[in-house]
Amino acid sequence: MRFVLMLACAFALTSAAQAQVTDTTRAANAAFAQTLPWADREDEDFAARGFIAASDQPQIRGANGTLVWDFNAYNFLQGPAPETVNPSLWRHAGLLARAGLFRVHERVYQVRGFDVSNMTIIVGDTGLILIDPLTSAETAAAALALARRTLGDLPVRAVIYTHSHVDHFGGVRGVVPDATGVEIIAPDGFMEHAVTENVIAGNAMGRRALYQFGSGLPPGPEGQMTSGIGLAISAGTFTLIPPTRTIARTGETLTIDGVRIEFQVTPETEAPAEMNFFFPDFGVLCLAENANASMHNVLTPRGALVRDAKAWADYLTEALRLYGDRTEIMVTSHAWPRFGGERVRDFIASHRDAYKYLHDQTVRLMNAGYTDREIAEQVRLPEALASRWFNRGYYGTMMHNSRAVYQRYMGWYDANPANLNPLPPVEEATRFVRAMGGADRVLAEGQRAFDEGDYRWAARVLNHLVFAAPDNTSARQLLARTHRQMAYQAESAIWRNMYLVAARELEQGPPNRPSQVQSADLVAATPTSYILDLLAVRLNPERAGARSFAFNLVFPERNERFAVSIRNGVLVHERDITLDGAPTITAPRATFLQAMATGTMTRAVLSGSIRIAGNRRSLEGLNEVFDTPDPNFPIVTP
Ligand SMILES: [Zn+2]
Repeated sequence: MRFVLMLACAFALTSAAQAQVTDTTRAANAAFAQTLPWADREDEDFAARGFIAASDQPQIRGANGTLVWDFNAYNFLQGPAPETVNPSLWRHAGLLARAGLFRVHERVYQVRGFDVSNMTIIVGDTGLILIDPLTSAETAAAALALARRTLGDLPVRAVIYTHSHVDHFGGVRGVVPDATGVEIIAPDGFMEHAVTENVIAGNAMGRRALYQFGSGLPPGPEGQMTSGIGLAISAGTFTLIPPTRTIARTGETLTIDGVRIEFQVTPETEAPAEMNFFFPDFGVLCLAENANASMHNVLTPRGALVRDAKAWADYLTEALRLYGDRTEIMVTSHAWPRFGGERVRDFIASHRDAYKYLHDQTVRLMNAGYTDREIAEQVRLPEALASRWFNRGYYGTMMHNSRAVYQRYMGWYDANPANLNPLPPVEEATRFVRAMGGADRVLAEGQRAFDEGDYRWAARVLNHLVFAAPDNTSARQLLARTHRQMAYQAESAIWRNMYLVAARELEQGPPNRPSQVQSADLVAATPTSYILDLLAVRLNPERAGARSFAFNLVFPERNERFAVSIRNGVLVHERDITLDGAPTITAPRATFLQAMATGTMTRAVLSGSIRIAGNRRSLEGLNEVFDTPDPNFPIVTP
């Protein structure tokens, strides 16, 4: 019934957007709506339950007035799905957009919709225990202020980071301005992974994340439709306070401010360092980001090391075994809680089954000789799992994740030597266009495919033409229109974002973002060896040529000493080693890094902020051998 009503309303609209929606997309979304379990309204109940208050401010702004968060950005999510949005995604986005303070249990509260993630608040005997203080200091401070209007001005006694991703710790200084006496608890390995996961490949991940999260796309029926896992990442100040205590083993227990906690460590799941935990006195289980209102990413499209779908499922099995019988309420780091022991147990088991099915069936088909694209085309969750909203692909998808499982075991090569050494994109595209009889013929084939609604083929054909002839405006425009139709059909919020950002960049070119400013806390916490690794992957062998360098680096304030040598286009560094006869550079680490990043080494030496002992002339030209990566490198054009 709901579906019929939706169609009727959609046809009554005559917006500009409607003109852009093809009959194929309209029919696809309508047919898709008929496959969905609309009768299951459990999430509507759970997402609304315990609502206390919304923010009393329409926006959160940073110290310099910049917009960090806009509570009205998702107000458009009312009524039936417009034709430009997959109906399943529209439903999901509307649930994620419910923002405010919620009472989950008399001692457990959540602030949701203030960032991409949730802040969960435990009321201890004398103060508060905060779980996952959001991404930005500004949003976390606003979330705590809202909670205190209900809970009173209680002090923060402890903070728990569930895992090493920035949307779960970045706001900590907003809720703990003075860390004295505040216990900060995190899983073993947290600091290493929190500061290093995005260092060495940071520029490429940052550029690709813009596609995944739809950064710069305004939220709306033709724009960003959440990030699937949550609304959007806030644009404030990332901070980090190192843990005072780490949890290394499953079964460890703590009592914090009178609240007992039992821990389960789950490394190498959704994050390299992650943990679940249980509050036995409340019957409340926190499953961190290991369970969600969507299938998660086994391989995130922004780029990351591939995750282990089997371990993920195994840890959910263990959580069910350890805590299932005692659990009445489950909270997670994103989306809404689940209430009732039976429903929580059913959720964990069914969610676990989705990851297990993904893993096992991908491997079965792999062993049967199918390759990654063939597997992606046929692995679908069985009805019993696909009909659960929380297993659907709003963030990760079966298509992308099955290829991730394949990659984890097999890598990118499908064992067919025709694919062993293919031509790179521009060279292949040039030959493809020639073989097809020239640009006009390729464009005509792209148009024919578009007109028939064969968008996946249209995108492949037109992508060849754009790579062979990037100035072909007709090809770029038709490819952009093709991506938009796929965006409007996508159930996954991030697939939608990726298509829409691609369309925008085909029409307008890459963005003009400045290089990202790194969080001072994160840089300060990054081990020097990782920073030297980053320097090593910026070494440009053509610019270095036959030159070689060797020097000692001393950072007195850190009590650190490194030997660094550059030769053969390779930078090698060793800790606690001194190269005899080589010059020694002595400076505060931050000063040295600043001089390297800005090419002002000479000036810094002359000003005395960097001291060099020994043969300083042997260092001439050192600055010149490193690349500065372009944060806006092209993706959908050559
Ligand atoms: Zn997260």
